[in-house]
Amino acid sequence: MPELPEVETVVRTLRQSLVGRRLANIRVGRKRLRVPWSVAWVDLLRGRSVGAIERRGKWIMIDLQGPWLLVHLGMTGRLTLAGPDRARERHDHVIVELDDGRLLTYNDPRRFGRLAVLEPEAVGAETGAGLDPLGEAFTPAALFALTRERRTSIKALLMDQRRVAGLGNIYVNEILFRAGIRPRRRAARLRLVDCARLVRATRGVLAAAIRAGGSSISDYRDGRGQPGWFQLRHQVYDRAGSPCRRCATPIRAQVIVGRSSFYCPRCQT
Ligand SMILES: [Zn+2]
Repeated sequence: MPELPEVETVVRTLRQSLVGRRLANIRVGRKRLRVPWSVAWVDLLRGRSVGAIERRGKWIMIDLQGPWLLVHLGMTGRLTLAGPDRARERHDHVIVELDDGRLLTYNDPRRFGRLAVLEPEAVGAETGAGLDPLGEAFTPAALFALTRERRTSIKALLMDQRRVAGLGNIYVNEILFRAGIRPRRRAARLRLVDCARLVRATRGVLAAAIRAGGSSISDYRDGRGQPGWFQLRHQVYDRAGSPCRRCATPIRAQVIVGRSSFYCPRCQT
């Protein structure tokens, strides 16, 4: 499932070639997404120009100088730009023809992704209240405040999109390793200094993952259809039984709120 670094990589690869282009036409596939595309959106979008492309949490936000087109990749969504000769594929749900003939396609085999066309004032409610971990508001004090009174583990808290937006199982495992904190630690027992380490670890892991173009575990691709390579640099994720890259102790696996957690019993306390 794409997490923040994969979504940020899509945004960066699309931004270069999409800003300033006009949406000439929009074609919608027959098969419906789980949250269906509204027929009225085609007329709202046609003829608009792309002003900017932003990201908030896992939402891709395309400013069309009036309405915004929001895209959430769900589990298997891909938003890619290709030349006019791109052959139609199974699971293409929305195809936007640009004024230069290129095609911006939303493809999603499992159909958990979401697209929405919204007025600017409705965008905030759709993208949610969770702090973006690359935003300025994600500070040690803000994270410390989120951990108070929480009976959950720090891992569950970091994955709760209503509190921190954009992190999933892969990166939370990697962040907790870098911070030296076990996934099961009670959030409420973290000190401010632990939260400072977590914020630093979060920014470090995300920056490295974005530099590597994200992690391609199954079918993730960036805006040009290219895979990412950060999975080769994972320290703990999916490495149960393998030696810790820092201290050689075997990495352990444990299920926490239904998701596999990976940690080094020596480096993480
Ligand atoms: Zn270790």
